[in-house]
Amino acid sequence: MTSDEAMQMFLETGALLRGHFELRSGLHSDQYFQCALVLRYPRIAAQLCRALIERVREGLGGRLDVAGVMAPAMGGIIVGYEMARELGVVSLFAEKQEGKLALRRGFRIEPGASYLVAEDVITRGGRVQETVDIVEIRGGKVAAVAVLVDRSGGKTRFTHPVFNLLEMDPATYEPENCPLCRQGLPLDHPGS
Ligand SMILES: [Zn+2]
Repeated sequence: MTSDEAMQMFLETGALLRGHFELRSGLHSDQYFQCALVLRYPRIAAQLCRALIERVREGLGGRLDVAGVMAPAMGGIIVGYEMARELGVVSLFAEKQEGKLALRRGFRIEPGASYLVAEDVITRGGRVQETVDIVEIRGGKVAAVAVLVDRSGGKTRFTHPVFNLLEMDPATYEPENCPLCRQGLPLDHPGS
């Protein structure tokens, strides 16, 4: 699957909208993205995750040998689960506890084993880094980081190889400098 084909799936499922939007940050943007809207279709989610696995495997020189997939909740859970299903390994997730990600529910990282860290979307990558740290603090190794969508336009760097299916670099504007406002386009408030 090419990045263009993936983009088409995000557009067709309404996960990626184009227009004039007010984001939660208060900034205005020409696009709005909600990954859960593409992942609500299990067959499409499976196709996207399979394609992401292929990217990771190619990027690692044809080998992707991990004991499990580890994801930050909530956003990463579907992607991590679907990749784990495809790879035939365990699916683990870390979740918020007192403001920080923690491994709960009896999930274990096997010391010395390799894991793939999966996420749906990264913007600055903070949650992914926390997830990487959870694996490493317990003696596990991180083979790679896999994200469906990198919203940093490929600028986020980790100490481990990172692969994505799609890069987005949305234009954002302060409301007073927004060219879309100046054109008089009506403003949408999605997700509210
Ligand atoms: Zn505007």
